[in-house]
Amino acid sequence: MDEGIDQKDIAEADLRTRRGVFRAVAFRDPVDGHEHMALVRGEVRGRDDVLVRMHSECMTGDIFGATRCECGDQLGAALDAIAREGAGALVYLRGHEGRGIGLVAKVRTHILQDDQGLDTVDSATAIGLPVDVRDYGPAARILRHLGVRSVRLMSNNPVKVSALETYGVAVAARVPLLVPVSADNVRYLTAKRDRLGHDLPQLDAPAGALGEAPCREARR
Ligand SMILES: [Zn+2]
Repeated sequence: MDEGIDQKDIAEADLRTRRGVFRAVAFRDPVDGHEHMALVRGEVRGRDDVLVRMHSECMTGDIFGATRCECGDQLGAALDAIAREGAGALVYLRGHEGRGIGLVAKVRTHILQDDQGLDTVDSATAIGLPVDVRDYGPAARILRHLGVRSVRLMSNNPVKVSALETYGVAVAARVPLLVPVSADNVRYLTAKRDRLGHDLPQLDAPAGALGEAPCREARR
């Protein structure tokens, strides 16, 4: 687990965005071989409690604004939170489509969800695919490269916290990143809560009762 990222596999430059300037750190991970990117705001080296999002790539949600999942909204909310805080990092992880099954397989699960009413879990297992094969090692390696000492992780998924800790990253807190429930995403969110153990209190709240994420922070 101690593989570092080779200097030849990393490049960084300022990236001017609608949310201001981030340091864009592109890197090729020595283990999975994918090219990932960290967007860094402010001073994070040697710091504790750095606000961090590990975002799994979702082309349909992140790029095309699909509403069947909440990925695109979470990506925007995480970048907003980092910009508000003035420091933090978002690690955008490639190879994580459909929790790691790939883009073609993910769209295939959408057919089963639409035609047979299967949820996000059953539609994967029905075609013989695993439910979640994402590896967070690349995020741990880039956080180490960036010199982050501990993180406040923006996620609703307790598994992400333990996965990061397994790779030796200290997680000081988990910060919920709650996207409002809609008619389009309610089935997906419910399956994430009931079958994958995500902490999604907005599903129990009356519509509009929960505002922009993150709304509260839990020390661990
Ligand atoms: Zn998505």
